[in-house]
Amino acid sequence: MQEVINLHLAENGIKTLYTEISKATMDQEKCFILCLRYLDVIERLCKLGDRNFVTIKYSHEVSRIQDKVKTLKPILEQRYEQDRHKKQKEHIIPTRPTVPTPITENYSLFAGEYISVKQLYKAINENLNVLIIDIRPTGEYSQSKILFKNIINVPEDILVPGLSANVIEKKLEGDAQTIWHKRDSYLILVFLDWNSSSENVPCSKLNFVRASVTEWDILRNYKQPPVILNGGFKEFLDSYPSLVTNVHVNFIRHNEDIDELLELEDITYPAENAQVMQLKQFTIQELEDSVNIPDSDEDMEVTSKESDSSETNESANTSENDSDMILPKVTNKGSTIDKPSLNVSKEESLSQIKNKIEEERIKLLNEARNKKNKILGGKEDFKKGSQGDAFDPPPVRRETKPRRQIVAFGGWCGLVNLKNTCYMNTVLQCLKCIPIIRNILHSNFAHYITRRPPQVINEFAVVIRALSDGTEYDKKIFRPNSFYDKICKLDPIYKKGHHEDCMEFFLFLFNHLNDDCACDLKKKSIMIEREKSWYGHLQGRTSFWVDLFYHQFQCTKVCQVCDLKADSYETDNTLMLSVPYRPGLRSVNLKQLIDEYMEDNQILDYKCSRCHQMKVTNRRSVVVEPEILVIVLKRYYQDEYQETRKNNICVNFDLSFKFGGSRYKLYSVAQHRGTMDHGHYYGHGIVQDNVWVEFNDERIKKFEKDWDSIRGSACAFFYCKEKNY
Ligand SMILES: [Zn+2]
Repeated sequence: MQEVINLHLAENGIKTLYTEISKATMDQEKCFILCLRYLDVIERLCKLGDRNFVTIKYSHEVSRIQDKVKTLKPILEQRYEQDRHKKQKEHIIPTRPTVPTPITENYSLFAGEYISVKQLYKAINENLNVLIIDIRPTGEYSQSKILFKNIINVPEDILVPGLSANVIEKKLEGDAQTIWHKRDSYLILVFLDWNSSSENVPCSKLNFVRASVTEWDILRNYKQPPVILNGGFKEFLDSYPSLVTNVHVNFIRHNEDIDELLELEDITYPAENAQVMQLKQFTIQELEDSVNIPDSDEDMEVTSKESDSSETNESANTSENDSDMILPKVTNKGSTIDKPSLNVSKEESLSQIKNKIEEERIKLLNEARNKKNKILGGKEDFKKGSQGDAFDPPPVRRETKPRRQIVAFGGWCGLVNLKNTCYMNTVLQCLKCIPIIRNILHSNFAHYITRRPPQVINEFAVVIRALSDGTEYDKKIFRPNSFYDKICKLDPIYKKGHHEDCMEFFLFLFNHLNDDCACDLKKKSIMIEREKSWYGHLQGRTSFWVDLFYHQFQCTKVCQVCDLKADSYETDNTLMLSVPYRPGLRSVNLKQLIDEYMEDNQILDYKCSRCHQMKVTNRRSVVVEPEILVIVLKRYYQDEYQETRKNNICVNFDLSFKFGGSRYKLYSVAQHRGTMDHGHYYGHGIVQDNVWVEFNDERIKKFEKDWDSIRGSACAFFYCKEKNY
């Protein structure tokens, strides 16, 4: 099938090329290039189809084209040689001294089609004779570029497919033209754009400029094939800010290539006043808040009254009047909902825990003060411990003292796509729409933390807090750099910048958030079945994250032939549902999928252990209701060629439905557009004043509840249990 299409396309291409060649007789250069392309297409066609057939069909045309190439080549070579002499006579270009380095080492430095920012940094540092070609728009290039002598701007708006290096030269001016002219005198050419990477180059203009050298510049002798800077200017700027002309780059680029592919034309761009938040200031302010400074007129000294954590918590609770900010009734010591009767180990006495928390609190406070002091220009280093503080009161003036703020939830904040991180951004946005998660992370959550040091919860909280900011008329954009760095540290696979699965990432994040806060479940000597399932699935560890997300089903399997009954339990933090695929099937209802899952009339591939018949039903009932019900849709099926394909069937969903004994309300939905391998994640959720918005990396806009438009792409739903039901 694929080959038939290619053959057809190639044959059409040949026709077009031949017509173009006969028209281009006046422009020898263009004619020559078109001829080479023609021969290349013929060669490809031979590889695809029957070589004999192709040769017979095109033999006449091919011999004419080959003749043309033979005559044109020496003419052009002569012309280029003359041009070069002329230019050298006109202005003698001073050649800059370069540090000679053995060629072999350079080859090993630039193996492959891409180089990392680190390799480029090394090359710049060693003063290697490389030429950097930056294809960002001229405005952005002049605002900030890599600090290096051999760098030119070939703006992307002049780049078109099939462009030759000589035509590029004509379009350039001044120094850029001079440098480009002697392009083959450099050791290697390094191309870059804003976020060039192996993922997006195939559909970017970098491909055209690279091809101009590798395919349309046959008269030049390059020392080695050109390379592309992986991560682009963006990553270089992030990694080596001292090596760019200006670090205060305020333009934000989104992944245009993917949008182009998906034809997302109806997007709103961030408002002009939308600004990237200052991460540093934000974290310090928030860190101080998170160590819970009571809102009183006392000085920032740590007094004995303040160190009493129970009292501080109380004062924090009473100071919050906003109904949205009420602290959730979820604690580490068990939950208010009906969970199996396993108790958290009480080996650590309460006072020990209090002391530990207090120690951590003072440590964090001192760190925050030191950081702040450094920023303010002070050099004073605070002594550790409350005693030191008592003798050395920090020089914080009353009027600038940070106050505990009740943060109003706006929610109009986008997230910068760092490295194809739309999957990560979508999960973060879906989670920030859930009030109970916001409330926990906006309050003092330090007492939940059990892992020292915590791996990701602090960075996660910073993102969730940032995402709570912004209004419809004052949109914000946040760069989740520290969070992403932590994620990459926890699993380097995320560093590669591939398109990852959104819900796989959710489970990964969940596990690490849980590990940051987990304590041991007490193992009873005798456990009933459902306790065993609960304990086993959680591997003996629990936290408030488990209380929020986990459900448990009791499953009763009944054989329809011999009536054998068996009970078992299912414990999980997401409800995975397969979306059925049948030719002709247009849509299904989510509620129906859930009901069918709960009342499974025939388990596939499951044999009765007694009569070995495959007629076993499975009835599930909810034993533990989750606070947050995450439903993941498995949207794939095998086609007739056993290929896995994406299932785009519409899934009708309700904004609220009954599950177990409770009612659940929809707060956010994750979407996936594209195929199994290539696509883009974005989502929808509830923000301020119950308004639905669409979030798509940096962009955030009002969603007019056109539910039909997202039924075919929805891949995960985040429902929350309604309190007053
Ligand atoms: Zn049976």
